Order: sequence, then C-alpha cells, then structure tokens
Amino acid sequence: MIKSVKGTSDIAPPEVLLWQHVEKTMTTTAKAYGYEEIRTPTIEMEELFSTSIGQGTDIVEKEMYAFPDKKGRHLVLRPEGTAATCRAYLEHQMNLQPSPAKFYYMGSFFRYEQPQSGRKREFHSFGVEALGEQSPLQDAEVIDMVMTMLSRLGLSHLSVDVNSIGDDNCRPAYKDALRAALAIHESQLCEDCRRRMSDNPLRILDCKREDPALLESLPKSADYLCTDCEDHFHRLLSTLDSLKIPYHLNHRLVRGLDYYTRTVFEVVSEDLGAQNALLGGGRYDYLIRHLGGPATLFPF
Ligand SMILES: [Zn+2]
Ligand SMILES: [Zn+2]
Repeated sequence: MIKSVKGTSDIAPPEVLLWQHVEKTMTTTAKAYGYEEIRTPTIEMEELFSTSIGQGTDIVEKEMYAFPDKKGRHLVLRPEGTAATCRAYLEHQMNLQPSPAKFYYMGSFFRYEQPQSGRKREFHSFGVEALGEQSPLQDAEVIDMVMTMLSRLGLSHLSVDVNSIGDDNCRPAYKDALRAALAIHESQLCEDCRRRMSDNPLRILDCKREDPALLESLPKSADYLCTDCEDHFHRLLSTLDSLKIPYHLNHRLVRGLDYYTRTVFEVVSEDLGAQNALLGGGRYDYLIRHLGGPATLFPF
C-alpha cells in the first residue's frame, strides 16, 4: 500500500473543522487590522532564500527541499513566507503605492526536519507582513494583533518575550563584545557554535545545547543599542505598556534568521510550558535591500 510521505499529514473530517475555525479566526482578525491576503507560489528560486534567510542558517544549509528542474534551474519548495512576500512586493512595484503595505497569508511550507522533534516536513503557517513603516507603533500593532488572534482562539496566560538586536550601526560592536566574552568558553561550546563564533555569534544565544548559566552571563544586545535603536525599543515597550500587553525582556531571544533588525518577539503561553513559543517574528529593515530593492524602505 502506498502511504503518505514522511513528515506530511492528511487533514480530514472532523479534524478539518478545527483547522477551518482557526483559519477563519486568524483571517478575520488580520482583515480587521487592515491586512490583505497575498498568495505567492509554492516554488521559488533557491537564490531568494539563500540571499534573504542567510547562509549559515539551518534552513538554508540543511532543511531546504532544493532541486533542479528540467532546465537545470535551482528551485526550492518555500521554507517560509516572508522572503516570497517581499519578492512579490518588489516584483510588482507595490513599494510605489501608499505605505505601509500589509499582507497576511497562509499555506504549506516545507523544511527537511526530523519528524520526531514534533515538526512536520510539510507544515502549515499563517503569517503577516507590514512593509514600509519605520515607526515602532507598527511593531506594536503586529504584536497587538497576534495577541488578539490567540486570545480569540481561546488561549490564555499569554505573554510576549521581546528583545532588540540593534541594526548595522550598533550590532557590530555587540558582536565583538559577544565574541570576546565567548572566547574564554570556546572549548565548552558545541561544534556548530564554535563555527558561529566568527560569522554569526548571536545565534549562539538560542542554541539549546549550551549551558544556560553561561548564556545568561553573556553581554546583552539591549545594552549596546545606538541612540536610534534604543529610542525605537523604548517607544515599542511604552506602547505595549499603554496597550496593557504583558511582556518580558528576553535578551537571549534573537530568532534564527539573519534578516532581523531591532525588534524580535515571541508569544508564549504558560499553559504550554516555558519552551513553547506559539509564534514569533521581528522587524527586518534590511531584507528589501538584500533582495535588491530600494534601501529606504522599512518593512516589519
Ligand atoms: Zn551550540
Ligand atoms: Zn542601532
């Protein structure tokens, strides 16, 4: 008998009714916040993700379903939605329209992961992107919207872990401080992290294999922010305060992708235990520039 592919699943009645309920709740909420649907292809050029997510990340190095087509083009099954949304935004010159441009999407994404970790190789994701707005109020709006979605779905004890990882102006000095602090512990680090020391030391902060006490003792990005990043971060936090959104500063939160700047966040529910982030995201001011677009845009 032919079976489904490892890491994929069928969603049949009655379970599909739950899926429909979740999808409807999320799309209704996103529309109420002024987000419109965008649908992008399931296959993209491999270069889109190696350029945007970054070499040296697990997704690009190990997890992409990449294959040549009959003409030898390097294609991939999309591993995430942000880069494709930005590609479409630039390809159709939506940056010339009033900003911010706000999109939501849902669909299948693909990563070659070990299914025993609870992750699927074909997984279903709902995402939102807001492009062209520099204000921290935009960051706060996204966080407020996802908190609203999750509470409408009946999840409780929600809080936001938030951090700022700075920008091109202040992050180099932070990376240097991190490398200096890590240098004396280099022999304790896992093989991946020893490699990350030179090119991407921030990622060591969320490595599950490192000693939590060591990670806790490292310099914090929030202490190295330049004036603009610090001001942005404080305005975000004061907006969260006025919206009465509970948050924790988590200086080990960096998110795995190279394209984040300044704000990164994850929503956690105490109902699910400390390790389980329900969703996460961040600001990515340089992604459009990496994709060859005008450098003056500030998408979230
Ligand atoms: Zn490690
Ligand atoms: Zn900065």
